[in-house]
Amino acid sequence: MRKKHEMTIEFDSCSENESFARMVTAAFITRLDPTVGEMSDVKTAVSEAVTNAIIHGYEKKEGTIVIHGIIRDNELWLEIQDKGVGITDIDKAMEPCYTTKPELDRSGMGFAFMEAFMDKLEVSSEPGKGTTVHMYKKFDSAQKE
Ligand code: ATP
Ligand code: MG
Repeated sequence: MRKKHEMTIEFDSCSENESFARMVTAAFITRLDPTVGEMSDVKTAVSEAVTNAIIHGYEKKEGTIVIHGIIRDNELWLEIQDKGVGITDIDKAMEPCYTTKPELDRSGMGFAFMEAFMDKLEVSSEPGKGTTVHMYKKFDSAQKE
């Protein structure tokens, strides 16, 4: 079995950090030798999850977001965690076009995008405790040593 690569980053919940999260994740997955499409899929999925943590989880107040990533061979696992308000009905929240913030012009497509761009998506959440989004993707490319 090839080496496992692991990273954890923790950053403040503010909109400037959306691009920071995208860039760090992009740097982390570069070793998978991703195609342009794969790279953009992962960056978009991470953006959606981080934006959700900022807007919904912490409702734009202070908080900390953690991204944990694991690469093994040509597989990637990512977890994006907040300790914000949490989600009461996860199945409902994951339905396309469902949003609790229509007044902010949200379209309710974040989870649908994450699901489309990654191979697996799981959400665990507890009201009052926070939310963790688990994502998995298998890359066509072989992992470079
Ligand atoms: P869009 O992503 O299209 O801008 P949206 O964020 O409302 O709109 P989704 O990303 O699909 O749509 O999320 C659906 C709903 O799930 C949100 O409206 C919100 O109620 C809830 N939600 C998502 N992520 C979180 C989170 N981290 N903490 C609390 N609630 C969340
Ligand atoms: Mg969203």
